[in-house]
Amino acid sequence: MVVSSQKAMVLWALLLGLLLVSPLANAELERVEHAAKADGSLSFLVVGDWGRKGLYNQSQVALQIGSIGEKREVDFIISTGDNFYDDGLRGVKDPAFHQSFSDIYTAPSLQKQWYIVLGNHDYRGNVEAQLSPMLRKMDTRWLCLGSFILIAGPQMAEIFFVDTTPFVSNYFIDPKDHVYNWKGISPRLHYINNLLLYLESGLRESTAKWKIVVGHHTIKSAGYHGNTHELAIHLLPILQAYHVDLYINGHDHCLQHISSTDSSIQFLTSGGGSKAWRGDVNNRWNPQEIKFYYDGQGFMSVEMTETDVDIKFYDVFGNAIQANFFCYVNVNCLGTL
Ligand SMILES: [Zn+2]
Repeated sequence: MVVSSQKAMVLWALLLGLLLVSPLANAELERVEHAAKADGSLSFLVVGDWGRKGLYNQSQVALQIGSIGEKREVDFIISTGDNFYDDGLRGVKDPAFHQSFSDIYTAPSLQKQWYIVLGNHDYRGNVEAQLSPMLRKMDTRWLCLGSFILIAGPQMAEIFFVDTTPFVSNYFIDPKDHVYNWKGISPRLHYINNLLLYLESGLRESTAKWKIVVGHHTIKSAGYHGNTHELAIHLLPILQAYHVDLYINGHDHCLQHISSTDSSIQFLTSGGGSKAWRGDVNNRWNPQEIKFYYDGQGFMSVEMTETDVDIKFYDVFGNAIQANFFCYVNVNCLGTL
């Protein structure tokens, strides 16, 4: 009996050890919470592809983000990645953090929490620096956790931030002159598979009115980079299965809204935080799907209540460049251009 008992203890110890080292043991993404307004509504801005030390109109766009942020009484700001050009941050003491972020987005309305994903350019630098608590100490607005869930409301919206750069094969097999920092990603397939499992688990459990996924790379885009087929294959089916309402991305330096003929997901690009005007648009896109395309600098605002989502795009002058469209729970967005 003593031997059996010892064997049982060894087995339990082994099992516990496996659970502790297995990523599946903690099949959840980190969660952060952000309270909605007293009436339950939420207002936030989305900007992407911005960090150029104020150049390429980054400062001008920032000025307008501040102005619209004040008018819309925003609760927080989302960055869709490519936070620091061209090669991310060199480390936590890289002055680019202040030159491209803290010293640029200075308006009182922007002194809110920023929820941030990484882009491909960020992976060309010290990714760990952007994820480091040290950066948060230097500027408490900064919150970049790789992939994580923002519970806003708490019941209004769950926003799933997904680290999309490791999905893109070309960065691994044909990096050209660039050096990517994959520390923490390898083995890649393991990282991606676990991330998808965690995302699916989070979406399955979500009871929020609105489910939003934010990633740097496009799923559908008529811009220069176009669709990201790895995300269309691996990520999109999960978003469809769990009835995600909005997929928000950057990467293409434009503002666009694409709807879908086979699901209720609305694909929104906000990647006009600085350098833009590439003049490379796919004009052959299905006109039933493409609702809006603006090949220029700007940003996006989102206001949501229990029944409606109001999305506006703004140019570098702060002008709204699209009429509202409204989404109703579980019903396709009705574009009104
Ligand atoms: Zn990018």
